[in-house]
Amino acid sequence: MRDTKAPTAPHRARKRFGQNFLVDRHYILRIVDAIDPRPEQRIVEIGPGQAALTRELLAAMDAHCATGQAASLDVVEIDRDLVARLTAEFPRDRLRVHEADALEFDFATLAADAKLRVVGNLPYNISTPILFRLCEFEDRISDMTFMLQKEVVDRMAASEGSGERGRLSVMLQYRYRVEKCFDVPPGAFRPIPAVDSSIVRLTPLGSKRLRPNNETRFAQIVTAAFTQRRKMIRKSLAAWVSADAWTAIGIEPTARAEDLSTAEFVAISDWREGSSP
Ligand code: SAM
Repeated sequence: MRDTKAPTAPHRARKRFGQNFLVDRHYILRIVDAIDPRPEQRIVEIGPGQAALTRELLAAMDAHCATGQAASLDVVEIDRDLVARLTAEFPRDRLRVHEADALEFDFATLAADAKLRVVGNLPYNISTPILFRLCEFEDRISDMTFMLQKEVVDRMAASEGSGERGRLSVMLQYRYRVEKCFDVPPGAFRPIPAVDSSIVRLTPLGSKRLRPNNETRFAQIVTAAFTQRRKMIRKSLAAWVSADAWTAIGIEPTARAEDLSTAEFVAISDWREGSSP
């Protein structure tokens, strides 16, 4: 401990910040293993909490440092009490603590000299907005490894034809390779959450990624198709595509949103762009 004024009373988990802290060392080490952090990498952790992952990330990085050197990382934490504990436990040259809302934090400021590896056991109540927020920094990120609610990870990774496929699957898969790594049971946390969790890795596709002619239009069409997911696309997308155009686009008008690949959504969006007045 570095600061004798560090808070001594145990921290009381705050529901509004989605605080379920990892306590099972087996899973903590498995997650760090999946991340495989190296000292030369620019790693930023969202929501370090009581540093369960942070401590082991630093230890794993130190293990790859030359003798006598110590690794460092950045963390973004919204809870002021936890920020006080983190700054008391870790010197600033080890841990740069940014007291901020990850939904507003400018991740580009950390990526001036290298791409970021973003990691975290994300607060489940805001996991989808955080994922969309991070899409804004896609070209500054080399990969992301997150713990999320299992059901959300299954939706993120769902391929076409799966009933779990939704807007989140398409909007993430056209930017990233999405890989589910493993599940983590509720007993690994305190307080124990009501849901199962999973680890997921997102790797930007970079130059391999499909580029719709108009990304805003693409997002609107994906949203429209999944808002009426049980309907055939000739109905759910009637406002975007005329009934006689489906043959030219090369897609069955009787398909449902969940049947379409990312490339097919891009084809619909690009057709619409080309035919717009
Ligand atoms: N990493 C710790 C662990 O695994 O034990 C804590 C994980 S806990 C599920 C989520 C953490 O994210 C908490 O520390 C919480 O205070 C923090 N948090 C919640 N909302 C946040 C936000 N909008 N921006 C940054 N941190 C946030």
